[in-house]
Amino acid sequence: MAAQPELEHPKKAFGWAARDTSGLLSPFNFSRRETGEKDVAFKVLFCGICHSDLHMVKNEWGNTIYPIVPGHEVAGIVTEVGSKVQKFKVGDKVGVGCLVDSCRKCQSCADDLENYCPSLTLTYGSKHPDGTITHGGYSDSMVADESFVISIPDNLPLDVAAPLLCAGITVYSPLKYYGLDKPGLKIGVVGLGGLGHLAVKFAKALGATVTVISTSPNKKTEAIEHLGADSFLISRDQEQLQAATGTLDGIIDTVSAIHPLLPLISLLKSHGKLVLVGAPEKPLELPVFPLILGRKLLGGSMIGGLKETQEMIDFAAKHGIKPDIEVIPIDYVNTALERVLKADVKYRFVIDIGNTLKASS
Ligand SMILES: [Zn+2]
Ligand SMILES: [Zn+2]
Repeated sequence: MAAQPELEHPKKAFGWAARDTSGLLSPFNFSRRETGEKDVAFKVLFCGICHSDLHMVKNEWGNTIYPIVPGHEVAGIVTEVGSKVQKFKVGDKVGVGCLVDSCRKCQSCADDLENYCPSLTLTYGSKHPDGTITHGGYSDSMVADESFVISIPDNLPLDVAAPLLCAGITVYSPLKYYGLDKPGLKIGVVGLGGLGHLAVKFAKALGATVTVISTSPNKKTEAIEHLGADSFLISRDQEQLQAATGTLDGIIDTVSAIHPLLPLISLLKSHGKLVLVGAPEKPLELPVFPLILGRKLLGGSMIGGLKETQEMIDFAAKHGIKPDIEVIPIDYVNTALERVLKADVKYRFVIDIGNTLKASS
């Protein structure tokens, strides 16, 4: 899509943006709206790098508006609140995840499922109802309606809180919605990246016995000794799969590459649920017989509503769930995105915006 002129806003902001499909980011001056009466403005201190940032900066989903300032795992400190803001005050620790607005009229919005609102406004690269293009957290400041701002508990550091706002809620919401949150259940997690490693931690904290399912045998030690999984299955090892047939109550599948579903469906008990949260670019082959034979369910899930995101953050704080992060300076961001592409990160990059983003850089 062609570059669009920036609508003039009164407040100067500074960040890093991609300007074309090369996806390379560089310093970028822009502007943000004045803090409205229900708005919370905050200084961004940390922003996580999500795999979708990579797709968006390169226009791989075909809907990118350049220049684009990515970042939807944004955490910082409140600097200003509007006159009608009730939940926040200056100095509070806050965050913004994948969305900054929604229609507030549809059934999804009424049900606290703003993430499924057909007119939701994404945190970056999305057209806001006021006509402006939203810019994300690879920048010095954010402004959002308080209904879309998450309160970060004191015992949760902002750098580890940031990735929870997308990666965390993406795996927490399906565990809750699909009833995979009961103690004693046997839960599988497919893929051990940013999403998968958090799925292991949340499922464990919810009382599940967790099996990591991966193509890489060398992740076994990491999964069990470091992340606390109970067992490990190599997804291409027929003997191991055979032995584990019909043992899992649910599976959170975080893989976004094309992969076979049959082995996963076979691992489920009768009435087991396979939930996809990764988004492969092409359709997957769906074997129907094994679903029918065990009354099994295949489902999907996308991030979560604001109420549930707050619940997830509070749960993470209470149970000491923290993503494993690699904190980087902003001028490392292009290298970091390349490494995300190669899955060369344990398990999430978080940009230290507060200390490294300088208007002169
Ligand atoms: Zn994300
Ligand atoms: Zn709505």
